[in-house]
Amino acid sequence: MKPEVEIYDTTLRDGSQGEGINFSVMDKLRIAEKLDAFGVHYIEGGWPGSNPRDIEFFEQAKQHRFRQAKLSAFGSTRRKHVAVEQDDQVRMLLEAKTPVVTLVAKTWLLHVKEVLRTTPDENLAMIADSVRFLKDQGKFVVYDAEHAFDGFKDDPEYALASWQAAEKAGADVVVLCDTNGGCLPADIARITAAARGKLTARLGIHTHNDIGLGVANALAAIGAGATHVQGTVNGYGERTGNCNLTTVIPNVALKMNKNCVPSSSLPKLRELSQFVDEMANIRHDPRQPWVGATAFAHKGGIHVNAVEKLARSYEHIDPAVVGNRRRVLISDLAGRSNIVMKAQELGFKISADTPELKTILSRIKDLEHQGFEFEAAEASLALLIRRILRHKDFPFTVEAYHVSMRRDAADSVVEATVKVRVGSKVAHTVAEGDGPVNALDGALRAALVKFFPQLNRVRLTDYKVRILDSVTGTAAKTRVLIESTDGREEWGTVGVSENIIEASLRALVDSMEYALMRK
Ligand SMILES: [Zn+2]
Repeated sequence: MKPEVEIYDTTLRDGSQGEGINFSVMDKLRIAEKLDAFGVHYIEGGWPGSNPRDIEFFEQAKQHRFRQAKLSAFGSTRRKHVAVEQDDQVRMLLEAKTPVVTLVAKTWLLHVKEVLRTTPDENLAMIADSVRFLKDQGKFVVYDAEHAFDGFKDDPEYALASWQAAEKAGADVVVLCDTNGGCLPADIARITAAARGKLTARLGIHTHNDIGLGVANALAAIGAGATHVQGTVNGYGERTGNCNLTTVIPNVALKMNKNCVPSSSLPKLRELSQFVDEMANIRHDPRQPWVGATAFAHKGGIHVNAVEKLARSYEHIDPAVVGNRRRVLISDLAGRSNIVMKAQELGFKISADTPELKTILSRIKDLEHQGFEFEAAEASLALLIRRILRHKDFPFTVEAYHVSMRRDAADSVVEATVKVRVGSKVAHTVAEGDGPVNALDGALRAALVKFFPQLNRVRLTDYKVRILDSVTGTAAKTRVLIESTDGREEWGTVGVSENIIEASLRALVDSMEYALMRK
C-alpha cells in the first residue's frame, strides 16, 4: 500500500548532532539496516561534504541493498557566485551515489543577508541551479527549506518565492523546517496550509523539540497538508533534539489513522527504539511515550484493580501494538491485585485465592518499610515470591565474607574473601578489585562458577546507591540497586542495610540466584 505519510529518518545525520551521540561507520550501517527492515521510506546517511566518516559511510553503503528505504545524501546548495558544476560540495553529493539527495537552503532573509551575505536573488539562483543540476543527474530531490517558518513570518512573499524556486526547478518534496524549534503548532499549521495552497510538490515537515513541541508541530503540519515527516529515532538531535519518530509514527498510524510504515512494523517499534539507544550507548529513557518501560506501568491500587478487569479503563491503547507491555509496579500502595498481576507477569501460577498471597503481601510491605524498593528490582521480587510460593531453599548460601582495604602511598589494594556453601560442598575464594564491591563481586563469582559455570556470562551493568533517611547521618540505611545481564536479558536486584557492603552483597546474591532461577 502506498503510504499517505512518508517517514524520513535523519538519525544518522541530524540525530548524530546530539550531545553524547557518536556513531562509527559500522554503527551507522547497522542502524540503516534496522531502519530499512522496519520500513521507513528514506534514510539520510550523512553529509558527505562535511566529514570523512560520512564519505566512508556512503562508500560502504554502496555494497548494501536496501529493500524498503531509499538512501539519501544531505548537503547544501552551491556556494554563492560559483557555477554548480564547479562546486566541490555538490560534486561530493553525486559521488555518494544515492538515489536521493536532500538539499538545504535559506528561506529567511535575515540568514540570506546576515549569514550567507548575499542578495535575495542570488539565493534564489543558488536554489534553482542546484535542484535543477541534481534533477538532470537523475536524482530524487528532497528540498529542506531551513527556517521556513521564521522566514515566512518575517517575509511571506520571499519565503514562498524560495520554495517555488525549488519546486519549479524540479524538487520532488519541499520540506518546511522549524530549524530553531521555537514555533507553536498553530503557526506551523497556518504556514503549512499557506504553502499547501501555493505549491503542488509533496510537502514535508522537519521540526525540532526546543520548546517540547517537536512531535506536536509535525502532527500540526500533517493536519494542514504535509505528507512527509522527518525526524530521528528517540528524538536524538542538536540541543533538545529533533521530532521523535518513535512518537510520531504511532501517532500518525494509530491516532490520525493514516497509513505510514507497514502495519507489521509497529509491533517492532520498541525494539527499534532500544536498538538505536544501544548503538548510541545511551540508557533507554523509561518515560518515553509509547516505547518507554513505564509507558504502560500501573502503580496505584485502584488503577491496577481496574486494569485487571478492563485494560481499556486506564490505557489509551493496547501496549502490544507497539511492542511494549503492561507492567504492574509493586509498592506500599499495592493491593492484592498488584501482587497477583505482578506474579502472573513474572510467570507464577497464582490467583486471588492462593493461600500464600497474604504472606507475600505482608512480606513486601515489611521490606518496603525497611527501605527496599522493587520497582527497579523485579528480579528480587520474583525471588521473594518464589521462596514463599514454592517453599524453596536457596541454591547457595554465603556463609562468611571479609573485605579489606589498604592504602600505601599511591597504591590502594582492595581484597575480598567469600565462603560459599552449595549443599554439602564449600568453596573459599579471594579476589582483588577496584573497590570493595568490585572485589566482593569477583570473589563471589569465582566461588559460584565452580558450581554453576553458566554464571560466567553474567555481568554487572549498573550499580546505584541511595542513602535513606539521612537525618541519622552515618547510621542511615543504604539501598543498593544492581543491574545485571547475561547478554540476552537484563534484570535488577536490590539490597538494603545500614552497611553499604552488606547491602551490595544482598543485591549481588539476588542477582546470581536470579540468573540460576532462569535456567
Ligand atoms: Zn534539523
